[in-house]
Amino acid sequence: MSPGNSRTQETVAYRGRFAPSPTGPLHFGSLVAAVASYLQAKINDGEWLVRVEDIDPPREVPGATSAILASLDSHGFEYSTPLYQSTRLEFYDDLIEGLLDGGLAYRCVCTRRQIEAAARRGVSGFIYPGTCRPKMADTSQQGTSVRVYTSPDRTCFTDELQGRQCCELETEVGDFLVRRGDGLVAYQLAVVADDYAQGISEVVRGTDLLDATFMQTHLQHLLGYDSPKYLHFPVVTDENGTKLSKQSGAAEINDNSISANLYWALHSLRQHPQESLKTAPTRDIWNWAVENWDLNALRGLQTLPDGSMMMQ
Ligand SMILES: [Zn+2]
Repeated sequence: MSPGNSRTQETVAYRGRFAPSPTGPLHFGSLVAAVASYLQAKINDGEWLVRVEDIDPPREVPGATSAILASLDSHGFEYSTPLYQSTRLEFYDDLIEGLLDGGLAYRCVCTRRQIEAAARRGVSGFIYPGTCRPKMADTSQQGTSVRVYTSPDRTCFTDELQGRQCCELETEVGDFLVRRGDGLVAYQLAVVADDYAQGISEVVRGTDLLDATFMQTHLQHLLGYDSPKYLHFPVVTDENGTKLSKQSGAAEINDNSISANLYWALHSLRQHPQESLKTAPTRDIWNWAVENWDLNALRGLQTLPDGSMMMQ
C-alpha cells in the first residue's frame, strides 16, 4: 500500500488489474479483456496487476491457473507476482464480521428453494425479499449465509465508456450475499476487498459485469472505501449474441499463434491493426497497440461480434 493510502487524483498512480477465475484456460474473450485492461494501464503509465480469483473451489479446474499465466506470459504481458484470493480468506471473514457487528449485514437462513418461491427475478438473479432481515433486537438468528442491507436509494456511478449508470438496489437486486450458504465468500465482497487493498484506480472489464458494479459500489460505501473508476468495454459474443465464456464453451487460446491472437483481439476492440501485424513480433504489436489505443472506438457499445470467428 502506498504511504498514507492517499487516494486523491493528484497523488495516485494508475493501477489496473486483470482478475481471471481458474475455471479453465484463457479463451479469446478473456484475452480481449486482458488486452483492454493492459492497454489502459500502459497508456496511463500505470501498473497492471494480475489477481487470481480462486475462491470457488467447486468450479475450479486443476491446472487452469498455470495455463492462464503461461498464456499471459507467452503473449508478452508484463506483471509482478499475482495475488491469489485463496490466501486472503481470513481478511474477507474479518470484513464480513465487521459488517455484521456494524449492523450493516445479517445472517440468512433461507434455502435457494425458499427464495425462488418468494422472490421476483431481477437483473442479477432472484431479488431477495428480505425474509431474514432481523426484527428489532433479534440477534439470535443463526445460518451460514450473510447478506448486506440495501436501501431504496438510487446507487449510481459514471462509467468511462457506458456513461451514467443507476440502479435501485433494494428493489432491483435486493439484499445480496457477502457469504454464501456453502460458507464461501461471495465474489462481490472479495473483489471489493482486493480492489481496495491493491489500490486499483480503474477497473477495466466487460459489460457483463456492469450490474455487479452496483453491488460493489454499495459495498465500498458500507466499508468506507473510495470507489475506483470503472470502464466496462463491450464483451465479445458468439454468433448467437452470447458472451464468449468458459461456460459457453469458448475454445482455449492457442499459444502457438500469439501474433494472430493479439491482432484479432485488437481487431475485436475496433483498433484497426494493419494486416502485417498478424505475423509481426509480439513486441511490435504491443508497441503499435499502445501508440494507437483509442477508447472512443468502443464508446457506448455493449457487445462485439466474435473476432475469433475470423481466426479460422
Ligand atoms: Zn433469508
